[in-house]
Amino acid sequence: MPRISEEEINRVRSKADIAEVIGKYLPLVKRGRNYAAVCPFHNDHDPSLYISTDKQIYKCFVCNAGGNVFTFVQNYEKVSFPEAVIKVAELVNEPLSYSRDAFVNEKYDAKTQNYFKIFNEAIDFLSYQLYSEMATEQLSYLYQRGYSDELIKHFKIGYNPDKDALYRFLKAKGYSEKDLLAINLIRSAPDGFHDSFSRRIIFPIFNYDNQPVAFNGRASYQGQEPKYINTENTEIYVKGNQLYNYHEAKSAAKEAQCVYVVEGVTDVYAFYKAGVKNCVATLGTAMSKEQIRLLKNLHVPIILCYDGDAAGQNANLKNARQLVDNKISCMVVKNTTKLDPDEVIRQNGTEFFLKMISEQEVYIQFFMRAYASKVDFNNYTQKKEYALRMANEIARLTDEFDRQTFFAELSRMTGFETSQLEGLVKEVREPEVKREVEPVAKPAPMPKKSGRTSAEYEVLSQLLNSKQAASYYKEKMGYLPDRSLNDLALSILDYYRKKDKLEIAELLDELSEESQKQLVLYLDENELYSKSYNEQALSEAFSRLKVSLLDESITAIKRQLVVTTDEMKKNELMSKMVSLKKDRIKILQDMQ
Ligand SMILES: [Zn+2]
Repeated sequence: MPRISEEEINRVRSKADIAEVIGKYLPLVKRGRNYAAVCPFHNDHDPSLYISTDKQIYKCFVCNAGGNVFTFVQNYEKVSFPEAVIKVAELVNEPLSYSRDAFVNEKYDAKTQNYFKIFNEAIDFLSYQLYSEMATEQLSYLYQRGYSDELIKHFKIGYNPDKDALYRFLKAKGYSEKDLLAINLIRSAPDGFHDSFSRRIIFPIFNYDNQPVAFNGRASYQGQEPKYINTENTEIYVKGNQLYNYHEAKSAAKEAQCVYVVEGVTDVYAFYKAGVKNCVATLGTAMSKEQIRLLKNLHVPIILCYDGDAAGQNANLKNARQLVDNKISCMVVKNTTKLDPDEVIRQNGTEFFLKMISEQEVYIQFFMRAYASKVDFNNYTQKKEYALRMANEIARLTDEFDRQTFFAELSRMTGFETSQLEGLVKEVREPEVKREVEPVAKPAPMPKKSGRTSAEYEVLSQLLNSKQAASYYKEKMGYLPDRSLNDLALSILDYYRKKDKLEIAELLDELSEESQKQLVLYLDENELYSKSYNEQALSEAFSRLKVSLLDESITAIKRQLVVTTDEMKKNELMSKMVSLKKDRIKILQDMQ
């Protein structure tokens, strides 16, 4: 992991407003000066997650999830702390000084980095081959499709010649067959090893850290079947886990405030030809959970643009529905040409294409139009079935205004009254889709609050709220009996060496134990413990702690007395116990 300095971490934290960042992931409800949201960490229905803008922390009252802005991103996106810092920095446009190479070096293990290295060498070799005499036909095919040299270089398109050229090249470079097989660049046959992508035009696929992980290989001569082949699942590539061009499209999507989703690599090239860079491909018509997660993380509206044919339009329908179920705002390009994006450009020109992709329907419009084309509205049964299906679809919309608008539209299309249509909505709503984010590990339950523990909590609560309490504690007590709580107290004292006022959001990053973080959040909200310096309560807590320590010592002596036979030793223990009891009485008298 890249090492990001404490200074930079603090800079990002102070720039990032927690409500603004969480608001990019979840809809927020205003609660006075603060906010609430439906908690993504447990199966929540009412907003249980509270976000304090003053303290820059969040806390769920049901599942106990809580923390600062980094904790949220870490748990929501399931990434490491440094990755969370980088993501938050990106969200709030705060530049960081870490280098991406260092990031890759530290994020991936040596074996994986070696796979990337092999892929990179292969890509260089295949790019070179594309411009060799052997590939004049293939290169001119690419030119015919309108791919410029710039585009070919940008997407690192190459050509894998025959006679196992790639295998022989990589073997000569010293790479082992074992590694080449592991990433599916070669395959094993009874007569030896062969290139997996022999005589194919190669479109490399990169992961979201911009590392090469797979190839998409297109047939390069007449009769070569199948037309496209892909790298099989490997340790570094799982079909459905990647969004092609995600790495590139991320910043463009932020700028354009939307991202286009298409089927294949060549569709991304088509958009690129037209100057549109905020485009990713699902590499197939299905959209996986992981891809939905990646899309969601872009925090921009999604625009689907699958092919204009029946399969593509079906993909639009299915995927739009999935996105909406995941509460992601989504639109569909109105493509009535029956062509794929590249064909649209080649047959109708760039201008037509740009106009087409700018005309979008919200998903419900798209649904209603797509299904309407299959219905004979003069046939009562068909019409009623259509109304039933659409009414239930409209009922799923979360926006009341949208619901009214589209019920009215459906009424206009079918001739049924709006009230009739609303009556068609099935009483039982379909069960809510399971959220993408799994619950975070439940924090350890709070320790039973014995007299001792509640005294320790009182001390810690005051320490969190006042430097004066910290000085008083150092002078009069200086330690807590429980080791973990004592560690927490030490971290707080440490904090006050730098600053006079403690910010919980900042302290959280300095605590290493999850239980300590949870306790800080627990104390912060618990009304039982003082929220400001209260010398009397503090000194009372010290007394209670001392008494409870004395009680523990006395009990220990009693136990020893039972088993001791030596008279001398017994007397010694007895007098020790008497003196401890005297101390105990004195403390209790002082407390009166
Ligand atoms: Zn929760």
